[in-house]
Amino acid sequence: GRPIDAVAREFGLDPAAVVKLASNENPLGCSPKAAEALRVAVAETHLYPDFDCHALRHAIAAHVGVAADHVLPGAGSSEIILLAARAWLDAARAAVIPQYAFQSYEGAIRSVGAEPIVVPVRDWKPDLDAMLAAATDKRVHLVYLATPNNPTGTIIPRDELERFAEALPAHVLLVLDEAYREFLPDDEQVDIARLFARRRNLLVMRTFSKVYGLAALRVGYGIGDPELLALLRRLQLPFSVSAPAQAAAVAALGDTAFVDTARRENETERTRMAAAFDAMGIETIASAGNFVLARTGDGAANARALMQKGVIVRPVANYGLPDWLRVSVGLPHENDLFFEKLREVRSEMPK
Ligand code: PLP
Repeated sequence: GRPIDAVAREFGLDPAAVVKLASNENPLGCSPKAAEALRVAVAETHLYPDFDCHALRHAIAAHVGVAADHVLPGAGSSEIILLAARAWLDAARAAVIPQYAFQSYEGAIRSVGAEPIVVPVRDWKPDLDAMLAAATDKRVHLVYLATPNNPTGTIIPRDELERFAEALPAHVLLVLDEAYREFLPDDEQVDIARLFARRRNLLVMRTFSKVYGLAALRVGYGIGDPELLALLRRLQLPFSVSAPAQAAAVAALGDTAFVDTARRENETERTRMAAAFDAMGIETIASAGNFVLARTGDGAANARALMQKGVIVRPVANYGLPDWLRVSVGLPHENDLFFEKLREVRSEMPK
């Protein structure tokens, strides 16, 4: 989504009145503990970060329940997405992704000259059988898969994912993107120990950008076999996770109350938004994330008209969904403003 300042400048709006529901950020901000860690870290701005992210790796390892050598922090999960492609693909290889997958996957695949093989979804969900069939192509060495998925918000049931992980050929790296994991109820979150018991060639990615509210800092991580992570690390920019990012992420992991609040409020507001779309006769897809995909008709025109009224949302024509808008779950008054402006836009648009 475009920055608030840029939109305010373009349309002559007061930045304080502009609401951004376009990048699946945390509307509550970040944990006060993370903010305090940042404040402290500022005093050490002249020092290089810990090259090994020691404290952060150990904090993540304890949180996830793995050894610290199974964790690789990166500059957001975006960096891990790219490292996986660079480590595992080249111009002679191909990668399988589902239709409506997060757009960075295709960019990462193409950036190393590899070919993306896009497998159509079934009923909005990745067609795992068709993806397995596609992965029998000898060129295929990587699969990207997200649950919950962005931009659709759909999830892959745990048993189906486990069967998929087991059936995928051993030489194929399965990259499982859990950027929105924390928004799922506990009993629907992927049990990654069970997945790793079924395949070694697996890289799980998570991020501090979403429920933890640290998107500006760029910090995420991969979980996987130490040998695989060592390969990724050799391709990584030295010091790619800044010292403030490391410190804030450690503090954020320690504030489970903040995460619980964010999860709860997201669910309440997401339910309210789905009902509001429904009341307007607008189709949505059941979302497990912190956003809702809604069929408003002409997403680009709607997004532009909303932006002029100070509400930034995400058109998804680049995903092949020109009739849809993706709206991040905001604070109650932000969501109310979105619906107020959406009603205005619809009443003003030529029918
Ligand atoms: N994966 C998915 C599915 C996402 O939606 C996003 C961000 O929107 C990312 C990864 C990248 O997030 P970050 O690089 O901030 O960790």
